Amino acid sequence: MDRCLVLQRDGDWSAADLRSPSFGKPGVSIADSRLGTKSQAPHSALYAAEEGALDAVAATHALIAGAQAYGAKILTQTRVLGFVTQSATVTGVETTIGIVDADIVVLAAGTGITKLTDMLGVSLPIEASPAIFIRYKSQPNLVHTLISSPEMEVRQSSNDALLAAEDYLDDAMENQPAAIALRTAKTIRNELHGVISIDPERACIGLRPMPADGIPIITPSSKSCAPS
Ligand SMILES: Cc1cc2nc3c(=O)[nH]c(=O)nc-3n(C[C@H](O)[C@H](O)[C@H](O)COP(=O)(O)OP(=O)(O)OC[C@H]3O[C@@H](n4cnc5c(N)ncnc54)[C@H](O)[C@@H]3O)c2cc1C
Repeated sequence: MDRCLVLQRDGDWSAADLRSPSFGKPGVSIADSRLGTKSQAPHSALYAAEEGALDAVAATHALIAGAQAYGAKILTQTRVLGFVTQSATVTGVETTIGIVDADIVVLAAGTGITKLTDMLGVSLPIEASPAIFIRYKSQPNLVHTLISSPEMEVRQSSNDALLAAEDYLDDAMENQPAAIALRTAKTIRNELHGVISIDPERACIGLRPMPADGIPIITPSSKSCAPS
C-alpha cells in the first residue's frame, strides 16, 4: 500500500490533521527523493503512515479470489431487480437470472444502493458526489507515495500510470474532465521536479457514494424490510 503525505503551503493544519496519531511524529522529509522532489517546498508536511492508497481493482480481484477459495460463487453481469421477503424478512434477491435464496443479504451497490433500499421501504441518506478521476501516462518513479496538497492529489500505480483525483466544479466547457486533466498536468509539472512526460490517458467523472451526514453507514437494517 502507498503511504500518504499531506502537504500544506502555509502550515495551517485542520483539527482533523492535529488529531491524527502521526501528527508531529518524525516522518519523511519533504525533500526526500522517494516522494519525487517538490519544486516549491511547503512550510510543513504530515506523513500519515497509517493512511494510504491501494489499487481498488486489484484489491477487489483479491477479495473475490479469497471468497471463491472459501466456496463463494460469483455471478457477474447479474443485476439485482428486487427482493423476496417473507414476514418482513428478506429471504432472497430477484436477479436477471432468477431468484437467489439467501440467509443474509448485504447491499454494497455504491450510488445504486438507494434504489435497492427504496424497494425495501428503507430510506438511506446516501448522496452521489461527483469527482474527477484522471489517469496519466508518465515515467516510472515520479511519485513514491500518495501526495495530497491544496494543489493536487496524486499517486503512481504499479504500472507507472499517475492517478489523480480532482474536485468536480461544474458542467462548463473549461471544467470538463479533459480540460481539468490538462490543468492538473500543468500543476503537477510545476509542483514536482523532473517531470519528463505526463500525458492524460483517461479523465472521467465518477460518482462517490457519500453519507449525507458524513458518517459511514454499515449496519443491519432495524426497520421492517417489507415493501410498503
Ligand atoms: C474520482 C473518485 C475518487 C475517489 N477517491 C476516493 C479516495 O481517495 N478514498 C476513498 O476511500 N474513496 C474514494 N472514492 C470513493 C470509492 O471509490 C467508493 O467509496 C467505493 O468505490 C464504494 O464502494 P462500493 O463497493 O460501495 O461501490 P462501488 O465500487 O460503486 O461498487 C458497486 C457495484 O454495485 C453494482 N451495482 C449497483 N446496483 C446494482 C444492482 N441493482 N444489481 C447488481 N449490481 C449493482 C455496480 O455496478 C458496482 O459494480 C472515490 C471515488 C471516485 C469516483
